[in-house]
Amino acid sequence: MTRLPLWQTEWDKAERDWDKRAEEAAKEHPLKQLQSMPRMPGMTPETAKGLKWKSLKWMVTQDHKREILKGFFKHPFRYGVALVKSAMQKKPYRREGDFFLYGVHSLKEFEDLLENEQALFVLGFSYCHKPFECPSGRFTPECANDSENAVCRQCFIGKALQASEHKDTIPLIIPTIHYIGGKIFEIVHAHPGKHILFMITACEMTLEMFGDWGNMVNIRGVGVRLDGRICNTMKAFELSEQGIKPGLTVVLDETKKKMLELIKKKVSTLSL
Ligand code: SF4
Repeated sequence: MTRLPLWQTEWDKAERDWDKRAEEAAKEHPLKQLQSMPRMPGMTPETAKGLKWKSLKWMVTQDHKREILKGFFKHPFRYGVALVKSAMQKKPYRREGDFFLYGVHSLKEFEDLLENEQALFVLGFSYCHKPFECPSGRFTPECANDSENAVCRQCFIGKALQASEHKDTIPLIIPTIHYIGGKIFEIVHAHPGKHILFMITACEMTLEMFGDWGNMVNIRGVGVRLDGRICNTMKAFELSEQGIKPGLTVVLDETKKKMLELIKKKVSTLSL
């Protein structure tokens, strides 16, 4: 197995080596890409109507494995109050470009929080921007992140997860909203009193629709808006939650750069 330099100690070299191997892999085995970037609104006007109710209905009626119910009833009063409080705000987030901010006022504040070496860092990626050729399959919570595999060598998710690898980073690949909800409850309940920060990619519609649920558990962080073939209607969202997602979503280049800067900030505070 090819060993890259450690990102914590030699970030620039690790990144140069990773990018060089990605270029080589792209020559041998180019990945399927979007032919052109569609210009899609984050949400259709029809979808935006009554979104909080649609969100509540989806969370309750589709919770087949009781992932949300079980978590919620660990602290029903606390979570109930926080959910209502968040739902009463016009928006459950602030926004800076592609970054949706939950429980923080600015990206700068989030960056400062990343300097807390005691904080756990949840780094999550929506399954819909896994490459079509992903060896772990697209609609799964798995990521083999195999540094010998030509697909993984070009995958931004793989790069970000390698760069952030540490015992205090919790990587997640997110197939459904109930999966991530259940995982967040698990993490919060397993680490009482610990600061938990997150950075998670998702479509604008889901960042809007489920922001109150993140605020309910009082974790702070950023949702990163996906572009490309996003879900911007309820129908597309419902199909995507069942693994029917023929299109590819992407993180824009400038946004990827900022995500890596944030990861760098986090790993530079960690002891090996
Ligand atoms: S790094 Fe993970 S998500 Fe990316 S192609 Fe490899 S297995 Fe799939």
